[in-house]
Amino acid sequence: MNKKWYPCELHCHTLHSDGDFTVEELISTAKERSLCGICLTDHNTMSGHRETEGEKELKILKGIEWTTYFGHMLVLDTKSYVDWRDATPDNIDSKISAVREQGGLVGIAHPFQIGTPICTGGHWDFKVQKWENVNYMEIFAEGEPYLNDANYKARKKWHSLLSEGYRITPTMGRDWHRSRNNLYPSACTYLLIDGDITAEKMKDAIKYGKTTVSNGALLTFETARGETSGDTVEGGEITLKISIDLSHHKEMEAERQITPEKILLCSSKGEMEFPVGESISFTAREKEWYSLELWGSFDDKENTLLCLSAPFYTK
Ligand SMILES: [Zn+2]
Ligand SMILES: [Zn+2]
Repeated sequence: MNKKWYPCELHCHTLHSDGDFTVEELISTAKERSLCGICLTDHNTMSGHRETEGEKELKILKGIEWTTYFGHMLVLDTKSYVDWRDATPDNIDSKISAVREQGGLVGIAHPFQIGTPICTGGHWDFKVQKWENVNYMEIFAEGEPYLNDANYKARKKWHSLLSEGYRITPTMGRDWHRSRNNLYPSACTYLLIDGDITAEKMKDAIKYGKTTVSNGALLTFETARGETSGDTVEGGEITLKISIDLSHHKEMEAERQITPEKILLCSSKGEMEFPVGESISFTAREKEWYSLELWGSFDDKENTLLCLSAPFYTK
């Protein structure tokens, strides 16, 4: 058992929809960014999938972005095609169920992207009733939390769903269309994977909540028993060993200074603040979710959200 956090980009476009990349260019740019895996999610088409077949080094999970007037939904790795064209606010639960029946994962893309008239359909307006069928949601969709209120709205919506008992995995989606105009190259979703990364293991990490959403920094934690994000642990006194890793950020953009300043422990009852250190201890309630966040400065932007973890849960 040798678990490792792998930097990945879970939302990518190519010339097969409205991206500027060929599939080959997307792959080579992802490697230049030191990413280990990507999800290929062109708008309403899977025509790019076959062009990934020869790639061995970068792991590629194949998907599609359902792009409708009512929201954008990411669909990963279905056994067979599920028709998106008749998805409406009234039937979205049955469409989501159909994806799940085909073995696919369902993610909400950029739920609070500005909608009409700037980007019609980009805002999530579907009326989901069965949130238990939604696997993940993009919490960082713009790369710059302090500049974009949409990320904070997504975080708030996600917290409220967790508090209702839904286990939804948080992700970061660069919505990568072209190599330029990506101000923060080190932002990514880290996936916790046992051994070498594969597309199948990427899928499981998203499915089972083994993610950390990063705006450059990576904060990870574990209990004395080695439990972490996605796990269900005993309540009571808990000490989490904390680790903060800025190496991917420094490799990508050393000129931009990240300074961690505090750790927030979020749950249905609000936030508890801890200083940045090697561990935090607290009394965990039963049947609760806990997500860790790292806050600090990013260049001259103070008090910004640098990183948030997928939750662990208590029995
Ligand atoms: Zn989209
Ligand atoms: Zn997209």
